[in-house]
Amino acid sequence: MKNIISYLESCKVCPKNCGVNRIKDELGACNIGRYSYVSNFAPHFGEEPCIKGEFGSGTIFFSSCNLSCVFCQNHTTSQEVSGRKTSPKVLSNMMLSLQDKGCHNINFVSPSHVVPQILEALEIAKDAGLSVPIVYNTSGYDSLEMIDVLKDKVDIYLVDVKFFNKDSSKRYVKASNYAEVVKKTLKKMQEQVGDLQLGSDGLAKKGVLIRHLIMPGLYDESREIIDFISEEISPNSYINLMGHYRPEWQVTQTDKYPEINKKVPKSEYQLLKEYILQKNLNII
Ligand code: SF4
Repeated sequence: MKNIISYLESCKVCPKNCGVNRIKDELGACNIGRYSYVSNFAPHFGEEPCIKGEFGSGTIFFSSCNLSCVFCQNHTTSQEVSGRKTSPKVLSNMMLSLQDKGCHNINFVSPSHVVPQILEALEIAKDAGLSVPIVYNTSGYDSLEMIDVLKDKVDIYLVDVKFFNKDSSKRYVKASNYAEVVKKTLKKMQEQVGDLQLGSDGLAKKGVLIRHLIMPGLYDESREIIDFISEEISPNSYINLMGHYRPEWQVTQTDKYPEINKKVPKSEYQLLKEYILQKNLNII
């Protein structure tokens, strides 16, 4: 197998395909070179019940992101390089300390631009006894090659599907091919780990869990996403329909996005929830 760090040379780790040499600390769109930066790691209780359980999900939040969502609630960490520069050993120690705290899994948040660094550290952590499930918590803007590399390393893909329309993708996440990419990565993730499997303790053990945040004015696009999940991913899919959108960052700091500078009507959330149930999908 190819040395995992060699993927950083002429970087195509994510669909931005920058081609920079990150081994030499050259920077592409994500602004992260040879080593990942971690903005925080801790047991987290804000995830779905099957992910957080009683003792929390062992979240490791990576600094920077390969998307630039104009409504990002975490823009101080997603759009800036902050936090701690992590060697493989330090990153593996973070995983082991979260397991020691009783966390039910290790949850890599915003991992798409640091897959080689994660896998390098994961190997060390596994050799040292890491055994809890691995959660890959992503926007789905991932390289298909990296998803292949993650086979048998990731147990649960937690995918936040944002848009399905080229115009929305271009306008709101600054990646006009986002929709095209997420359809392909979701399919590959589903082929790899299948439907979400819950243990007798109610915790996720393996599979795909899909999140979707309803956006103002994009009700039809949300329906299209639900149709795609039902027809092309799996009729047994689990969806977390999120209704907590609030205008943030560039939406409130500029006057460029008036159409999403508002809340989503509660009635739309309810209608979409009913639509998911009509499709016999699982709501989580
Ligand atoms: S991971 Fe970073 S450098 Fe590599 S292709 Fe993506 S944005 Fe560019």
